[in-house]
Amino acid sequence: MRVIRDPGKLNRLLKGVRRSARSIGFVPTMGALHPGHLSLIKQAGRDNDTVVVSIFVNPTQFGSQEDLNKYPRPLKNDLALCRKARVDLVFLPDSKIMYPEGFATFVNVEKLGDILCGTSRPGHFRGVATVVAKLLNIVAPDVLYLGQKDAQQSVIIARMIKDLNFPVKIRVLPTVRQKDGLALSSRNVYLNEDQKLDALVLSKALCLAKSLIDHGQTDASRIINRIKELIGKKKQARIDYVAIVDLEKLRQIKKINQDCMICLAVKIGKTRLIDNCLITYD
Ligand code: AMP
Repeated sequence: MRVIRDPGKLNRLLKGVRRSARSIGFVPTMGALHPGHLSLIKQAGRDNDTVVVSIFVNPTQFGSQEDLNKYPRPLKNDLALCRKARVDLVFLPDSKIMYPEGFATFVNVEKLGDILCGTSRPGHFRGVATVVAKLLNIVAPDVLYLGQKDAQQSVIIARMIKDLNFPVKIRVLPTVRQKDGLALSSRNVYLNEDQKLDALVLSKALCLAKSLIDHGQTDASRIINRIKELIGKKKQARIDYVAIVDLEKLRQIKKINQDCMICLAVKIGKTRLIDNCLITYD
């Protein structure tokens, strides 16, 4: 496994890979790797000849009041996990090389970036789209691997790839959870023991919604109210949003009679957690 910090060097190295017609799978991350990330890395390994993982805590996607400085950065452990997962190349740039003096170009996916998480995190998805666009240009992978956990992010990146003609396929893989249902997230380390228990309410609320739908409930607002009621019982939980949206434009739907997604963002203490589940008819 090689660790490369320089975008130009990585790009040149990967040109050799492409010339020999070997496929490249790419997993962008902010590090603090957990089994959710590893599921993407392993799938990339199954599908491709070469696996590239980036580890970069991207400053442009953090608001000024957010956790950029305290975001976990267990680099040694991350590299060990990558090695064990048979990653070929780790791209480990720093902020100065990604955003040098004079940097002025941003990618903004309109509308999709302003709703749901975009409402309480203005500018977040502009930062995400910008860094992913840069990474796609540097790595030029055949396939990009993303997690359903960050559903809005995946929809926005899919939109950007289509709109800007990036020659890359996208695979979105299911959310990996703890046995108790909590979706794995690098931010779970911020939770204390009590908060970890309260955080279970996110996945429990999604299960409740699913079972209401299985039992014939089709009224989105009733489902949302039941979710809010359940989450409201937890002392440390403060709802940011609960929404049921279509899968492409992320517009709220009133009736559950099409493929859709139930999305939640909830603050547990100071930690903002997100989760979602897909409702599909096939
Ligand atoms: P992050 O390091 O949080 O930026 O995440 C990097 C990638 O891993 C994104 O595509 C996430 O959606 C994905 N990811 C994060 N948590 C999970 C999880 N629990 N299950 C599956 N994928 C995940």
